[in-house]
Amino acid sequence: MLIKQRTEPVELKLLRFLNARMELSEKEKNIYLNLEKGFKGELWFDNWLENLSGEWLVLNDLLLESNNSVFQIDTLLITSEKIYLFEIKNYEGDFYIQGDKWYTISKSEIKNPIFQLERSGMLFRGLLQELGFSSPIESYLIFVNPDFFLYQTPLSLPIVSLAQLNRFKNKLIMNEGILKKRHSKFAEQLVSICLKESPYTRLPEYNYDQLERGVTCAYCYSLMDSLTEGEETIVCKECGGKENVISAILRSTEEFKLLFPDRKITTNEIFEWCKGVKSSRSIRRILSKKYELIKQGRSSYFEPNFSDTK
Ligand SMILES: [Zn+2]
Repeated sequence: MLIKQRTEPVELKLLRFLNARMELSEKEKNIYLNLEKGFKGELWFDNWLENLSGEWLVLNDLLLESNNSVFQIDTLLITSEKIYLFEIKNYEGDFYIQGDKWYTISKSEIKNPIFQLERSGMLFRGLLQELGFSSPIESYLIFVNPDFFLYQTPLSLPIVSLAQLNRFKNKLIMNEGILKKRHSKFAEQLVSICLKESPYTRLPEYNYDQLERGVTCAYCYSLMDSLTEGEETIVCKECGGKENVISAILRSTEEFKLLFPDRKITTNEIFEWCKGVKSSRSIRRILSKKYELIKQGRSSYFEPNFSDTK
């Protein structure tokens, strides 16, 4: 049973928008692409696990704290016998291990993901104790990309590659048993103590004037530059994706809100932000469908409709 769903990281969303609207440095672009890839891998694994639909509890994407240290778990699987902790990696290409170090085939060192796994395993064990729950824990690194290969893998490492997943599935199923009330109570407790991620920490600096205006495509995230007033559907030149113009404007408004949480949503702002995709009169009408107009003469603005955000 799925207890906690995975949501798109806000940091990823923001980087997507920024990537479309400004020139990211190579380092920033790499962070962005890695997040995009990592998230894709996690979704793939979610789907794989969902299809097994065993007697267990699944909690995705947990940000927790124990012993004054914050740690993150991609997927937690609570079975009657054990708790599994999964770290999902979507690495692509050839890698090798030498001692404690991991390298790409072109000999550049990467962070050893086993350390990260061990750290979260240790902290999670501490948390379990704090919460007064006992269960054996097993942690695994799961590599989901079919084009990943790790040379010189010591057999002792808790690594599962795509080719081994089928057999790993049998191992999971073997540990199935009837879950007790204490399991679901513990799962709920974990969800309730989850921390909220601060997405703004690793972002490049940006300001309103620096960003290109326009509507981004809902499918490939590129900026759609030429839009004509009067048409109800907008079409992306890059990928051919189509979207109703009203939904595109509302989506762009959400994007604006996420990028600039301190700016007020006004008809003029959104008109400018969407680069005149519709007349300001239409924009005002569309905004009032979803947001509540706070009347303040010339400086009236829109706020999320309370009944809508519930
Ligand atoms: Zn597109």
